[in-house]
Amino acid sequence: MCISRSQVRTNIEHIADRINSDYEGKEILFLAVLNGSFMFAADLVRKIKPLCRITFVKVASYQGDTSEGIIRELIGLKEDLNGKHVILVEDIVDTGFTLGHIMKQVKSTYKPASIAVASLLFKPQSYRKSIAIDYVGIEIPNNFVVGWGLDYNGYGRNFEDIYVVAEE
Ligand code: 5GP
Repeated sequence: MCISRSQVRTNIEHIADRINSDYEGKEILFLAVLNGSFMFAADLVRKIKPLCRITFVKVASYQGDTSEGIIRELIGLKEDLNGKHVILVEDIVDTGFTLGHIMKQVKSTYKPASIAVASLLFKPQSYRKSIAIDYVGIEIPNNFVVGWGLDYNGYGRNFEDIYVVAEE
């Protein structure tokens, strides 16, 4: 499977159109989750019409004593999100555990006016959470993909199309 650059671009434009109409007259604060989302975030914000700002965060993952095994901690958040219309920007949502942790941390620290999620890719078959993904670019099967910012061991973020990593 390969998702072509034109397919990706069209889907990003659809997301932007929907955000532009949903947030008309409001100011948006995009919270892009690095590293993978850097390219999608750049493509998306260039198409956004309402007043907006973008800030970048990272998720540090380490082994922990939870049912999910891995603890994911949001780092680098310097903005005050109180009263803001926040849109989380993700490259891909797989199980949703990362998203769940981010949401939990944001909501335990701040009271945003609203919070929504935009993800370039979404794997519905492996999703384990009930958090709505408000803006999904493309739903994909449960394969590991690279390109358009997504990596395989650090490589492949520069690919202009999105490819499935072949299993040996
Ligand atoms: P989740 O917590 O939703 O299971 O996984 C989210 C993170 O896992 C993503 O932000 C991404 O870093 C990584 N991930 C999940 N699926 C893929 C994939 O198919 N390709 C790449 N490159 N990363 C993935």
